Amino acid sequence: MDPRLPQVRALAVAGALIAGGVDVREGDSDTVGHERIDLDGRCVLPGFTDAHVHFLDWALERTWLDLHGCRSLAEACAAVAAAADGDGWLRGKGWLEATWPDGPPHRAALDEVTGERPAALWAHDHHTLWVNSAALRGAGVEHPTGVLQEWDAWRFPVPPATSLERSQALREGMAVANARGVIGVHDFQAQGGRGLWQRYDADRRLTLRVAMSIPLPAIDAAKALELRTGFGSDLLRMGPVKAFMDGTLGSRTAWMLDGSGEQLLSEDDLADGIAEASACGLAVAVHAIGDGANRAALDAFERTRDAWEAGALRPRIEHAQCVDDADLPRFAGVGVIASMQPAMIHSDRDVADERWGERAGGAYRVRDLLDSGAHVIFGDDAPIEPLDPLRGIAAAVHRTLDDRDAWHADQRISVADAVMCTTAAAAYAAGDERRRGCLLPGQAADLVVLDTDIVAHPERIADAEVVATMVDGRWVHGAPPW
Ligand SMILES: [Zn+2]
Repeated sequence: MDPRLPQVRALAVAGALIAGGVDVREGDSDTVGHERIDLDGRCVLPGFTDAHVHFLDWALERTWLDLHGCRSLAEACAAVAAAADGDGWLRGKGWLEATWPDGPPHRAALDEVTGERPAALWAHDHHTLWVNSAALRGAGVEHPTGVLQEWDAWRFPVPPATSLERSQALREGMAVANARGVIGVHDFQAQGGRGLWQRYDADRRLTLRVAMSIPLPAIDAAKALELRTGFGSDLLRMGPVKAFMDGTLGSRTAWMLDGSGEQLLSEDDLADGIAEASACGLAVAVHAIGDGANRAALDAFERTRDAWEAGALRPRIEHAQCVDDADLPRFAGVGVIASMQPAMIHSDRDVADERWGERAGGAYRVRDLLDSGAHVIFGDDAPIEPLDPLRGIAAAVHRTLDDRDAWHADQRISVADAVMCTTAAAAYAAGDERRRGCLLPGQAADLVVLDTDIVAHPERIADAEVVATMVDGRWVHGAPPW
């Protein structure tokens, strides 16, 4: 990641830091007292940062029964039956009844396989909840079918996970993230998880670098405690304040320049919020999907530039999905980071074409943003997409993840650029570019070992496997020998 010497044949690590990269001949790096690891043709990159994740939600959902791919009611019930042993609530997700030939879901079908154990199963879009009779009784709700929609579903009182379940899920989630080459996350978890991160950090069991965001409604608490973005330990930091301009593409609530969608925050209110946060040393990250929301957010950041520049704060727009031509150069011009989720290029392309028509040409413009000089960072927004940076890199490079043609192929980027968006640029967004993000002397030894050189072989990104991951000079996954 050094433009003068982007690739080296050997890398020296001393303690928690990178000591240097050398273009050695065979044998040159033999130094007494040093452990030497022969990579045997494997590839080392800076470790990946997932710059937008809801970590605890993702970690908990991982433990749920996954009903993706169940092609009938009978198959779904068989999967539930296989998981029905145990105590407490049985939680599940991912079912899609539109494809079921043997009838819609019903509580009676669940009762047969779950008995008295309460069960709550979310449909793939999280807009429908399928519960059994025990769950309805436990919740004190009467319902003929047990298939609840929208607000009935969202308000249904499924008990929250216990603190033991949360702690276990977080620990397992860290291990899974490390196994996918992740060395850091920018956590946008709305509620919960912050105390757990602190406990793991204090116990020296944290194996990720974590930036914890602050929800806008909690800004007064952060102010009262004088918490600033960047405060924390080597591994755990306060992140930016998170605000919302609009809704989502899928639910038709993205705020568009044509006036459609939902406006959750006005430009004036956002500008006030940025000014207030900046005065306290807090950076702002704002969710903006539609082209209207992106314009308003850019306007607000432009108006308040003196305030956040004075604090050396890094403003960011989360998602930046649909950006008008006129606004595209403003990310670089104003100095706003575009925090994007390339895996959604794969998941959202059909919906974007249907809802946005010609405007979809302005969606996920990763190439244009990079060419304009903007800082672009990548995340997965897990649990919306799987937490898997290599999958995001593949989506950004190929603009497709299946056998369909590339979607807006002119927006493809190189593997080296995609890696940069997943490593060095994320470190910049956290104000950490001098300490980590590249494998340069003096930077943190955060790295990933892949079995494939994906820079040389873009066609093999999807099959590339993470062999090992190092955080702060410590192997957190797959320690050698391999
Ligand atoms: Zn999110």
